[in-house]
Amino acid sequence: MSEQGTYVQKLRPHEFRIWKNKKPLLGQIDIELTERCNNNCLHCCINQPEHDVDALSREMSTDFVKGLLTEAANLGCLTVRFTGGEPLLRPDLAELYLFSRRLGMQVILFTNARLITEELALLLAKYPPGRVVEVSVYGMSPDTYDRVACSNGAFVEFRRGVDLLLQHKIPFIVKGPKLNFLKEEQAAFEAWAATIPSMEKMPGYSMNFDLRSRRDDQLKNERIAKLRATPEETVAMLSRSPLYLKDMGQFCCKFMGPPGEKLFSCGAGHGTCVDAYGNAQLCLPLRNKESVVNLHEVTLKRALEESFPAMREIKATNPDYLRRCARCFLKGLCEQCPAKSWMEYGTLDTPVEYLCDVAHAQARFLGLLNEEESAWEVEDWKERVARFVEENWPEGKRTA
Ligand code: SF4
Ligand code: SF4
Repeated sequence: MSEQGTYVQKLRPHEFRIWKNKKPLLGQIDIELTERCNNNCLHCCINQPEHDVDALSREMSTDFVKGLLTEAANLGCLTVRFTGGEPLLRPDLAELYLFSRRLGMQVILFTNARLITEELALLLAKYPPGRVVEVSVYGMSPDTYDRVACSNGAFVEFRRGVDLLLQHKIPFIVKGPKLNFLKEEQAAFEAWAATIPSMEKMPGYSMNFDLRSRRDDQLKNERIAKLRATPEETVAMLSRSPLYLKDMGQFCCKFMGPPGEKLFSCGAGHGTCVDAYGNAQLCLPLRNKESVVNLHEVTLKRALEESFPAMREIKATNPDYLRRCARCFLKGLCEQCPAKSWMEYGTLDTPVEYLCDVAHAQARFLGLLNEEESAWEVEDWKERVARFVEENWPEGKRTA
């Protein structure tokens, strides 16, 4: 927003970033507005109780979030994702939404839809977010939904919220966890999802659930681990898509190969996720104290330009990681990363056995590995990947 408070600010050509041929420092910012949630889902890695006094007292103030949004916009950021917890628990959500839109940002809203009101739906209709709202769905009946969300009456509120989105023609997509006791409802869920005008493909599922990202609840971790899809179930689910092999051909062409000893071979730290208390994280799940930057003390620009690049240089020291992950050509396919390692073991460089099994099952299904092979021992991985790409995505010009 300009100093005059208008929506549009006129720039002379040389002031406009695109003509300077520079990439913005920050393309998207994720802001976790609260860790509190009105659900208490069985598989959730982050939620705190809705009325948790400690969490509430530490959350970022409205002005602080506005300052953050302004700084992000000045760094070239065009998109903000509001997530949680349940972001609609914040009474200033509408205010922050409008503030972001006035800065010219598109808004991605992650929600369980229970708190969508007529007033909010009207606001989203009048000033569209520019991106689809993403609604998480935990069941197709009160019985199952309330059981997953551990909250009585949650299903009724969720349906009311979704109906308001439909009624006001607000584009949204739905997604959900893959849980065994939702199996019977999967067909109904997908049939319903297909009737939502803005759903262009099948709903996405989460199934390899993360453990508690603050490492704060051992009992819940044990429960989450039991809810995870097995490696075989994961492969069966992924390969249902008729585009799976082609997509994987394209993926493998770009992302396969051993990462070496540097821990961050992903995009972590090129953008940021700010937690509910004003800490900039390299990515959404990575919350260990040593790798976050307190934005009450350091600017976002400095975090992105100085702190994160330094963190991205961190090297693994764990001998098991160096023997396996550092030399593993499946690294791009595998979800093993510093954040997952932290959640599972409290270190940044421990191979996560569950994810290792999932990646190996997927590679065997794709024909990249034989039954008894371990990926880190494969010498001729380049030839295998090239063959797979040639067979499934011949358009790919570059061999891996
Ligand atoms: S709705 Fe989302 S944030 Fe809330 S408990 Fe469930 S999974 Fe967690
Ligand atoms: S498949 Fe196993 S060895 Fe390879 S990167 Fe994943 S966790 Fe590491």
